[in-house]
Amino acid sequence: MQRKKDKGQLIVLSGPSGVGKSTVIAELLSQRQNIYFSVSYTTRQPRVGEQDGVNYNFVDRAEFERMIAEGELLEYAEYVNNYYGTSLKAIQDRLDGGIDVLLDIEVQGAAKVRARCPEALFIFIIPPSFEELSRRLHRRNTDSEDVITGRLEKARVEFKEIPGYDYLVINDKVSEAVAEIEAILTAAECRVDSRKSILAQFA
Ligand code: 5GP
Repeated sequence: MQRKKDKGQLIVLSGPSGVGKSTVIAELLSQRQNIYFSVSYTTRQPRVGEQDGVNYNFVDRAEFERMIAEGELLEYAEYVNNYYGTSLKAIQDRLDGGIDVLLDIEVQGAAKVRARCPEALFIFIIPPSFEELSRRLHRRNTDSEDVITGRLEKARVEFKEIPGYDYLVINDKVSEAVAEIEAILTAAECRVDSRKSILAQFA
């Protein structure tokens, strides 16, 4: 039986560019109900196949800076010369409606969410090895060599932030990474704190 929750769980997923987060997320969303993927705002150019409003909301710098100034973002960060940020309103309405919200954000943004929403779940995804990350970025064939070098350097910096996360998932096989995340989310749902309204009838 699917029980409606009092409040949705905020889930923060981070991991270096190229680790396969988008694939893992797509698979997770296809398997799990009652979960909403927060579509971020970014000033970066769409990659081939990316759709506005689906993968990201693509905006220019002026619009992004307006959103910052007007307090519309839960968090934002600058990553390899582009802004990325999460709309506060889009996620708040869902959480209040009992729907889980998944954020795919980098480490600086995750630290800001940790400060504002300490009850969120923080999951970091790593590749099986650094060499494999480099191979995946090259195989993706969407970024120039300079951009790839920047992303790999950034990955090394990001790995230093892993101790601030609650869970570490290794994306060797997508199905296994998804199963680990499913297990984390199910365990979080079973916490006594998450089941207060069910508990009330046993008082
Ligand atoms: P990409 O350009 O590869 O799509 O994303 C680059 C990085 O930006 C990834 O690590 C991704 O998790 C992060 N990112 C995407 N959306 C957001 C966001 O709304 N806020 C922050 N802080 N990072 C984001």
